[in-house]
Amino acid sequence: MKVVLPDNSELELPDDATGLDAAAAIGPKLAKEAVLVRVDGTPRDLRAPLADGERIQILTTRDKDDPDALHVLRHSTAHLLAEAVRRLYPGVKIAIGPPIENGFYYDFEFPEPINEADLERIEAEIGKELDEGRSWTRENVSREAARARFEAEEEHYKVELVDSAEGDITLYTQGDFTDLCRGPHLQDSTPIKAFKLTGLAGAYWRGDEKNTQLTRIYGTAFYTTGNLAAHLAWVEEARARDHRVLGRQLDLFHLEDISPGSPFWHPKGMVIWNLLEDIRRGENAKRGYVEVKTPLIYDKWLWETSGHWEKFREHMFQIPDGDRIYALKPMNCPGHMRVYGNRMRSYRELPLRLAEAAPLHRNELAGALHGLTRVRHVTQDDSHLFCTREQIEEEVYGCIDFTAYLYELFDLDYRFELSTRPENRLGTDEEWDFTESALRSALDRRGLVYELNEGDGAFYGPKIDLHMTDSLGRSWQMGTVQLDALMPQRFGLTYVGADNTEHTPYVIHRASFGSLERFIGILIEHYAGDFPLWLAPVQVRILPVGDTHRAAADELAARLRHAGARVEVDDRGETIGRRVRDAELEKIPRVVVYGDRESADSLAVRERGGEQGTKSLDELLAELRQLGRL
Ligand SMILES: [Zn+2]
Ligand SMILES: [Zn+2]
Repeated sequence: MKVVLPDNSELELPDDATGLDAAAAIGPKLAKEAVLVRVDGTPRDLRAPLADGERIQILTTRDKDDPDALHVLRHSTAHLLAEAVRRLYPGVKIAIGPPIENGFYYDFEFPEPINEADLERIEAEIGKELDEGRSWTRENVSREAARARFEAEEEHYKVELVDSAEGDITLYTQGDFTDLCRGPHLQDSTPIKAFKLTGLAGAYWRGDEKNTQLTRIYGTAFYTTGNLAAHLAWVEEARARDHRVLGRQLDLFHLEDISPGSPFWHPKGMVIWNLLEDIRRGENAKRGYVEVKTPLIYDKWLWETSGHWEKFREHMFQIPDGDRIYALKPMNCPGHMRVYGNRMRSYRELPLRLAEAAPLHRNELAGALHGLTRVRHVTQDDSHLFCTREQIEEEVYGCIDFTAYLYELFDLDYRFELSTRPENRLGTDEEWDFTESALRSALDRRGLVYELNEGDGAFYGPKIDLHMTDSLGRSWQMGTVQLDALMPQRFGLTYVGADNTEHTPYVIHRASFGSLERFIGILIEHYAGDFPLWLAPVQVRILPVGDTHRAAADELAARLRHAGARVEVDDRGETIGRRVRDAELEKIPRVVVYGDRESADSLAVRERGGEQGTKSLDELLAELRQLGRL
């Protein structure tokens, strides 16, 4: 048989040859360093057979950053972990141990609970395995043989997995440990140059809380020690930027169990919130949007009409009242449909761009809640653009231009994804050709590079999703621009066209920030709480040196506030050194120390992270106007 190599040359091999045979046919060094074969883009174990005509790529230890190469390394390390745990904790039961993003885990049922201190002991045992060296063997076995083997070992989780496994059953063995596993795995343990167990957590068997709670051990592994060190530094940095920690440290917001997933915004957090609201309002006005305000609770009739009752009910908070059932709105769309439909509309009114940033409630599972990025109380910078078929492209263009403008304000890298017709869809192919090409042209016109998600659109129309990348390189899904031909129909909306007959308008659902809560959570982490001057909740803090300087400090604060700056005076009886340090911890961008030598002509101004210099009040104001955007 023949397989095709990445340079398009063909390699002749005996029938049933494996990836490892192919590597050996190319060269012994390649065979030695090989960790995985990728076949037509899909990872395959080196020991599994190839088939005629397949396009193969051999990955080696030099592909140290390749996600598939890292997966096989980490998965193999997970097996070493299971081997170590079985040796150290007799009676432990093993469940599953897959690779995940940035690492791997393995779930165990321990006879006695373990704690963080045990991780070191287990790490030492894995280290011993690596010193001794392990190699993996792979065998295909019958279901009965696999079942018998794990029954004899009293590994009932594995027995359950054998029973529910589909296709061939394969076992992988290293040392005296055999696991039920589809692979792929390394040839041996030499490529595992660096590993670390990173944490412990509880996890239910098969993710079901009715099942036994297991102990999950997380870890990670790399092809070089340098890569592990860089990863751990990244994790440390991400931890230092955690918006839940910074939210407390900077006094922006707090969360408590009395209303899960619903932030309490403190005055400083509200400064950021209101700045985003000002941007939203100002830009909406410039771009021809009009604001509306619609109710928070509605009779369930509305949700039945919109389709939410059928599809989204379990995420809605319901409020029974006598013989009626109301529900708190999880989205603004149906309310806006009612505003549009409350009277006859003419084509002359279109496009009609309704905007509202109302609080929405979604009954997210308590376990899924996370700081500001996964909440039950959501505030979207929502809009619904009602338009004719001919206006779709122009309106979509306006939406993405708006969004690109917003993200650039925050120096965020963004990218757009276009999702097209799914299998289950409403409407004709001609209709989809038309709407998809309208969205495409709008993206092209803005000169945006975008990714295509074929088949990922909603059943009622194509959509554009907005993703951004923060300063740690993490990608977040943010806003959306979604074309919808269905909801206006469900609400019986029409307009009278130039032809004097009634037509159904299209609606575009658009949110640019996405949710304000989430956007602020991401901004906190993106800036590590060190907001640019224009976004900082407190821009200037004045520290009077002694009691005699208080009056002058207050006067200076009043003058700065009058110019629009956000100013605080810290006149606590602490030393200047202490107060400067506190301002540093609270990430205040400018600190003015006011003592005997200071006056409006000569202020001692300390820039966060920089040196103390001398500025006149006029110079400070000029800087605040420019960088602080007063
Ligand atoms: Zn495995
Ligand atoms: Zn909507």
